[in-house]
Amino acid sequence: NTFADIKLTEIIKMNIALARYDRPTPVQKYALPFILAKRDLMACAQTGSGKTAAFLVPILNQIYEQGPIQIKNNNPRGRSKQYPLALVLAPTRELATQIYDESRKFSYRARVRPCVVYGGADVVSQMRDLSRGCHLLVATPGRLADMIDRGKIGLDSCKYLVLDEADRMLDMGFEPQIRRIVEEDNMPPTGQRQTLMFSATFPKEIQRLAQDFLDNYIFLAV
Ligand code: AMP
Repeated sequence: NTFADIKLTEIIKMNIALARYDRPTPVQKYALPFILAKRDLMACAQTGSGKTAAFLVPILNQIYEQGPIQIKNNNPRGRSKQYPLALVLAPTRELATQIYDESRKFSYRARVRPCVVYGGADVVSQMRDLSRGCHLLVATPGRLADMIDRGKIGLDSCKYLVLDEADRMLDMGFEPQIRRIVEEDNMPPTGQRQTLMFSATFPKEIQRLAQDFLDNYIFLAV
């Protein structure tokens, strides 16, 4: 019932302590062991449940355990294109920013650089930030598709994919962009990546998306 009971690397434990998280919330307690065991997951969880740390902590833990990574992703085709290891899709600028802020807490003093991109804001400054290195990208679907079209992001190395508030993303009409990103933009296929979906509700459309994007997944409702 404490984070000490969960097998996590030192730097993550330190950053959890710095964030003053003493005890895992229910979604963290139940989801973390499955995610650390590399299972795909569909979780029904509300905002405020602690779902953000429930996916960020085990993903960052897995990235750290792979050993030292380069600050700038190696790219033979030009320095400005980045190949994130993890991608988090979120419906709105507000949620993307919250996830990014949380990811900064957990990547503190670690050689992992998070970035965030969303629509309705200056694309040039976002591209400049990406070019400084991007290991974990938080994005709204429309702006990410734009960054891919501009040749600033490649998904070839993306081993972790999270769809946060998936029901809201569908309500907002993002399904075509999401399907393009996941199914047509060089993202490793199911089985070669780990996919986590979070949604407050579990209607037919979300079930269909889970069927298409997840591999032999765990279903968790908290
Ligand atoms: P979320 O549901 O991910 O939006 O998280 C809701 C709020 O709870 C955020 O402000 C988090 O920083 C905070 N939080 C998440 N997990 C914990 C925890 N284990 N202990 C204390 N606060 C937490």
